Amino acid sequence: MKTTESETASWLDGAALHEIVRKYDARAGDPVQVAEVLDKAMEMKGLGKEDVTVLCGVSDPELIARMYETARRIKDEIYGHRLVFFAPLYISNFCGNECTYCAFRKSNKDLIRHALTQDQIRKETEILIDQGHKRVLLVAGESYPGGLQYVLDSIGTVYSVKHNNGEIRRINVNIAPLTHKEFCDLKAAEIGTYQLFQETYDREVYAKVHPSGTKKDFDWRATAIDRAMMAGIDDVGLGVLFGLADWRYEMLALMSHIEHLEDRFGVGCHTVSVPRIEPAHGSDLASSPPRPVSDEDFKKITAILRMAVPYTGLIMSTRETAKMRKETYNLGVSQISAGSRTNPGGYADADAEGHVDESQFQLGDHRTLEEVVKDAAEMGYMPSFCTACYRLGRTGDDFMDLAKAGDIKHKCGPNSVGTFLEYLIDYAGPETVTVGEAILEKEMSEMEERDRDVSRKIIKAIRKGKRDVFC
Ligand code: SAM
Ligand code: SF4
Repeated sequence: MKTTESETASWLDGAALHEIVRKYDARAGDPVQVAEVLDKAMEMKGLGKEDVTVLCGVSDPELIARMYETARRIKDEIYGHRLVFFAPLYISNFCGNECTYCAFRKSNKDLIRHALTQDQIRKETEILIDQGHKRVLLVAGESYPGGLQYVLDSIGTVYSVKHNNGEIRRINVNIAPLTHKEFCDLKAAEIGTYQLFQETYDREVYAKVHPSGTKKDFDWRATAIDRAMMAGIDDVGLGVLFGLADWRYEMLALMSHIEHLEDRFGVGCHTVSVPRIEPAHGSDLASSPPRPVSDEDFKKITAILRMAVPYTGLIMSTRETAKMRKETYNLGVSQISAGSRTNPGGYADADAEGHVDESQFQLGDHRTLEEVVKDAAEMGYMPSFCTACYRLGRTGDDFMDLAKAGDIKHKCGPNSVGTFLEYLIDYAGPETVTVGEAILEKEMSEMEERDRDVSRKIIKAIRKGKRDVFC
């Protein structure tokens, strides 16, 4: 297949999308239309762009409540009570770009820059393992000392650490766009998901907030996921940085991106992230975003995405406050980070808040992993540290086929039970164990008989001291 290094994102028709938003604005929230779209959403086959526009226009509280209820039912049906946990691992904050919302931008001379040594990365990994993490999201600014090899070495280092009973079993990566050849090298390093946020799909706004550096080139970024998939990375993650442009336009553009990937590769994205702009050191724009997204609209975004792409993981980071995160669990979020730091070396740093003058942006949720896990379990959610799918080759369309047939829960259920039990035995304090064991039992009692049998076998092995048991 041809590589895409000179391609443009021709699948994105910005003018047409702005027109759809304008047209639907005029009849926003028509209850009959909304009801039709919600019925369609319940079929769990996803929604099209026009459906999404109808939902974006809803403002009547009663209709919003119905939207949220539909998203909740879809989440329940597909993901049950599970919430998968991960932590970001920032390896470097050097950057050659000038994103006006980000503290890592090149011209921010007050930022203290670090690129972690492999020894420091080993130390950060040990700390994350000691907290109970099994998957990390490796993150860096766009300028590594030593080029991509530095990232590849860092991935190798993280995977090599065996510490007490644990290890990191899946490394997802969020780094700047690469060439086809470089994506092949990244694939060979056995990454899980390659994530890249377009930031904004509005070309004009994009140009304003990315005045210089490689990232200035909208199409190089918008076609990066194609290059990644052509290089064989079939779990990819998309995202929009909400607050830069009209969020309804961004939702339609995101849908266009997903539809393009489905058309071209037979499978869309594995995850969608919904970062909202947070204050960042030295950035006026980050403190006062041009198109701020209200909390109510942010919840709508989450619910609409759950309905629009029901089998795609929805990631909620610690940019959001504990309160907001908790409200969105119910609306369709399936993966959350916890105990995060956005400064390289932040885990080894004794300062619990992290250093503002080294961090990418401010966090909204400062709780430890254990606090978030315990709280989620008390709310009735089932924390999961599962990494089984990609290690068993269930990626890309293989994963989607299983998910769409409704079969993935027979894997996710037992695997969440197993990995959560590992967490409780190896890392949790007594209070978390009490809450956690109760949730485990409840989860088992609600499973189909065959899944309960598999779970019992996994539990037995783990209680006997075996680790990393999965199906
Ligand atoms: N430097 C690479 C890039 O830009 O693609 C890698 C990832 S960057 C470190 C991670 C993401 O952080 C960016 O894609 C952007 O969406 C997000 N980000 C940057 N500044 C932010 C801010 N002030 N608030 C929230 N998220 C921000
Ligand atoms: Fe650099 Fe990424 Fe921050 Fe832009 S968002 S300044 S590319 S780290």
